[in-house]
Amino acid sequence: LIQLYIPLNFLGVIYRELRQSLTDIERMFGLMHENREIADAPDALTLQPGPAAVRFEHVGFSYDPERQILEDVDFEVPAGHTVAVVGHSGSGKSTLARLLYRFYDVGAGAIRINGHDLRSLTQLSLRSAIGIVPQDTVLFNDTLFYNIQYGRPDASREEVEAAARAAQLTDFVARLPAGFDTRVGERGLKLSGGEKQRVAIARALLKNPAILIFDEATSALDSRTEKAIQTQLERAAAGRTAIVIAHRLSTVMDADEIIVLDQGRIVERGRHDELLAAGGDYARMWALQQQEAEEE
Ligand code: ADP
Ligand code: MG
Repeated sequence: LIQLYIPLNFLGVIYRELRQSLTDIERMFGLMHENREIADAPDALTLQPGPAAVRFEHVGFSYDPERQILEDVDFEVPAGHTVAVVGHSGSGKSTLARLLYRFYDVGAGAIRINGHDLRSLTQLSLRSAIGIVPQDTVLFNDTLFYNIQYGRPDASREEVEAAARAAQLTDFVARLPAGFDTRVGERGLKLSGGEKQRVAIARALLKNPAILIFDEATSALDSRTEKAIQTQLERAAAGRTAIVIAHRLSTVMDADEIIVLDQGRIVERGRHDELLAAGGDYARMWALQQQEAEEE
């Protein structure tokens, strides 16, 4: 009986840890439940590391049959390029990120990386290739070090510290009572939105993914924070394939292409100056945000 009990108990621990890490990822995406319908195909391929081109091919999607969320969304992010997605709250921007990470399968069309349909790849190799800086970063009740190392649990102390430096956390860490070993999270030191975002960037840099998704925080930011985010974003995206979901249009001015999403459809696309010249939704959003910035 004892012989049986020990391994079962051991499995229980592993199961709990596995559940915990899945829960963390779900929380990062603001999801309530992990989608258990997603499984590897029997002959699933391993996505090879290296530069990655992302293609959304006439993608349609709905969470439930009554309501279409995305319709005929079609765009490409060539390897090393940055595509920005803008649009009102609820237009489907974060859903694009969830689909690329394959939390859900598309309802129509396909998403491909280097030509491979996501459904033909192992989830492990797919998710290893993607780093996400989410809208709301979840911090665990553990040290700052642990919270950054979470991006790649086998990273060395030096690698974690280098990622923190690259994410502009050095000054912040120097002011903490126990440096990297300071406990953070709900039961520890509370970090500001900007600090949490830098932790998320450090995590993503540590993971060193070919594809970076940046889901910009919705909360109103002052112009200094906004500038800081812009700089961090540019650094993190350098040399990677990046999808930047933006609420502040000033953070996407330099994107190779800007996609304007409205109720799950692409209504405009182009570079910043082209979209301004077109005088459509983007130009109107831009004028509005310029006006708000002046009032501030
Ligand atoms: P955005 O990021 O542009 O604000 P989202 O992609 O988060 O928009 O959401 C698009 C739409 O899908 C919204 O109307 C939202 O309410 C809905 N939605 C998001 N997540 C779910 C879900 N898990 N189940 C059902 N509807 C959802
Ligand atoms: Mg969103």
